[in-house]
Amino acid sequence: MKSLVWLRSDLRLEDNPALFHACRDSASGVIAVFLFSPDQWGRHDWGPRKTAYVLRNLDSLGRDLAAIGIPLLVEEAPLFSDSPKALQKILELHCCKALYFNREYEFNEAARDEQVTNRVLDRGIAVRAFDDQVILAPGTIRTQKGGAYSVFTPFWRNWSQHVDEQLPAPLPKPLAASTDTSLEFRLPEFARSRRPVECSKVHFTVGERAAKEQLNSFLTQSASDYHRLRDDPAANGTSGLSAALALGVLSPRTCLDRAIELDDGLILGGQEGIQAWIRQLAWRDFYRQVLVSFSRVSRGRSFIEWTDQVEWRDNEEDLDAWRNGQTGVPLVDAGMRQLRQTGWLHNRVRMVTAMYLSKDLLLDWRQGEAHFMRQLVDGDFANNNGGWQWSASTGVDAAPYFRIMNPWTQASRFDPKGEYIRTWVPELREVDSSNLHDPRKLRESIPAGLEYPEPLVDHRSARIRAVAAFEKAKQLSTP
Ligand SMILES: Cc1cc2nc3c(=O)[nH]c(=O)nc-3n(C[C@H](O)[C@H](O)[C@H](O)COP(=O)(O)OP(=O)(O)OC[C@H]3O[C@@H](n4cnc5c(N)ncnc54)[C@H](O)[C@@H]3O)c2cc1C
Repeated sequence: MKSLVWLRSDLRLEDNPALFHACRDSASGVIAVFLFSPDQWGRHDWGPRKTAYVLRNLDSLGRDLAAIGIPLLVEEAPLFSDSPKALQKILELHCCKALYFNREYEFNEAARDEQVTNRVLDRGIAVRAFDDQVILAPGTIRTQKGGAYSVFTPFWRNWSQHVDEQLPAPLPKPLAASTDTSLEFRLPEFARSRRPVECSKVHFTVGERAAKEQLNSFLTQSASDYHRLRDDPAANGTSGLSAALALGVLSPRTCLDRAIELDDGLILGGQEGIQAWIRQLAWRDFYRQVLVSFSRVSRGRSFIEWTDQVEWRDNEEDLDAWRNGQTGVPLVDAGMRQLRQTGWLHNRVRMVTAMYLSKDLLLDWRQGEAHFMRQLVDGDFANNNGGWQWSASTGVDAAPYFRIMNPWTQASRFDPKGEYIRTWVPELREVDSSNLHDPRKLRESIPAGLEYPEPLVDHRSARIRAVAAFEKAKQLSTP
């Protein structure tokens, strides 16, 4: 029996459950397919960087698959609604009797998978779906009342205990599906014609081998200091693996497995740095179980329902200033310029820029979420939506609406010497650190002839405005 493996956000050979099981079960060979869906990706705000990253990894994966005798087909299905027909055609053409895939948890993706499953089951094709994007499948752990978690800390407690007891072992690379070594892979013209955008080399290594090397060098060289350096945007203290994880070029179980191996098999009670890093992997799982249990977050709605009543301002000029790094707040501007230039942003700076948009400017977090998604190489719906709703105080385990980060004090705390700011805001290179984190002193110390905008808002007044908007929304929703 020949099988078809439908690859999506799992572009790798090692620890790929759908691929592994298809190869193990199928005596007559395996074919892989990737559906190229630019129209749907556009609707999901994928930007050119993410699309380019997908194509470059597809190119690498196609060659890796060919080396073990599995042809990779890349077919056009402009929208998700085109997927059932496209897959049925391939299944029939290649006489496949089974379809294998790894689950995607977002609302539209899950609906598409259900449509595909119904259609091919009707035609007598077997379907096998696997949980792959996570370390613990959504629903594996539950609150004491049996529900889904909406607060991270108890989730982490249960998650780490569970994983400690039943460590999920990554699956090996599948064995060669055929002895045919004549296979070659070439991206079809419709895919190649999408001009790749140059991506920063540090964060966006291409291909499974490079991602594993990056993981190993992070774990052996930097992870022990992760807890100290992870909040310093000028330090190269994080793994930079988010894009590889978002596309499944690397599996989270492989990350966990290698981290624990280095830490004498411990999750709890091991090295502080490695444990802090594993905790971030648990955040990925947390946000994915939120998508599955509270599908409204996948449909543009807030997790905390009364916050949908907040009256966001409608101000295109402020939005543009934020997008272009021209707000007059150095840390925010540095972040927004780094994002625009490289397609990546440090977690602390993602939080500060997101909170600045949603609180200081009181602009709808969904506008920021979409902008991030269009710019990021590592754009990942669950993490992006989770991070935005956290920052805007509308989400799970959100910062309470009255706890609003002051971007000036955040800068003095996490970039005291201004190294990060000076990298991305050249106008401020000559400004002394002691003047960089105070709006009044900064204005007085900008060298003559250099233009840097006045702050769009005064943080203290903006804070009062944001708290009032949230309080009004809360009152409106109270019967
Ligand atoms: C507003 C906002 C938007 C975000 N958008 C995205 C996004 O689109 N894609 C994305 O992958 N991450 C997103 N994050 C989470 C986080 O900022 C990035 O994962 C991290 O900065 C990536 O850098 P790294 O790979 O060096 O992470 P490391 O610090 O090395 O962490 C390892 C991995 O853990 C995961 N992780 C780390 N922090 C978080 C977190 N807070 N929430 C969930 N998972 C986490 C990521 O997969 C990351 O690669 C967002 C956070 C915020 C506040």
